[in-house]
Amino acid sequence: MSQELKEKLRAEGLNEGFDFFGVVDAAELAKVPFPPHRCLDTPQGFLPEAKSVAVFGMHVWDPLFNAVITSVLPDGAIPFDDVPGSQYYNLYYELTEARAHRVAQVLRDAGYKTVVTHFVHAKAAATMAGLGWIGKHTLCITPQLGPRVRWCCIVTDAVLPYDEPYTNDLCLGCDDLCIKACPTKAIIPGYSQGVEPGKKVDFEKCIVPQEMLAEPDEGWQKYAKKYTRRGFTECLICHDACPVGKEEHERRLKEYTAKP
Ligand code: SF4
Ligand code: SF4
Repeated sequence: MSQELKEKLRAEGLNEGFDFFGVVDAAELAKVPFPPHRCLDTPQGFLPEAKSVAVFGMHVWDPLFNAVITSVLPDGAIPFDDVPGSQYYNLYYELTEARAHRVAQVLRDAGYKTVVTHFVHAKAAATMAGLGWIGKHTLCITPQLGPRVRWCCIVTDAVLPYDEPYTNDLCLGCDDLCIKACPTKAIIPGYSQGVEPGKKVDFEKCIVPQEMLAEPDEGWQKYAKKYTRRGFTECLICHDACPVGKEEHERRLKEYTAKP
């Protein structure tokens, strides 16, 4: 029965446009430390009866999937932190959550509770679900599409069959292209595995959080597109530099954008 439910979830995920799906034990995910100031919590922090976390991944094939609009944060506030009164809108968060809410109906129809969220440790969940490897830039890289995937989770009290973790080192043989490409030298050299959460990419140097400050540094703005006073796309330089899955990403991009 639980395998059947899992397969229904997989099918519904595909139907909603997700490219990746896996399931992890909520208790095991809760043991993985996560970085502070990112609004993250354990699965049980969202649903005390949590037994499983279903993780879904969507291919981001256009930079505009990474569009962000923020309100002005108080000077010195850490972006992503729970700053009272701040507003933060991220297109891929909204897209994947809307899809995951529809997928979660499968579980609700079977009588289970669900919480849809980005704020469990989704990258860890993806790798524990066998979907990819945490690369040196800290993104979860999938063998099919590299880091060009965004993740969203459904926390549930349903006990579903758990997947096996991903163990293949996808950075092996790559000459640290992400680290070399970063214009602010924000990525600390070496593997992400074993590094204290939040310490692998220097938050003070990475352009993604900086572009959300009240007065983003003009020097940084040339690396991340700014559309309006408070509307940006995130810096994607280390993301785009990753060779894993690039060929398949480009093949799909051509297919999705071909003239009829
Ligand atoms: S997002 Fe940009 S600034 Fe941040 S680590 Fe990657 S390349 Fe560097
Ligand atoms: S660019 Fe290379 S080192 Fe960086 S995450 Fe991708 S494969 Fe790993």
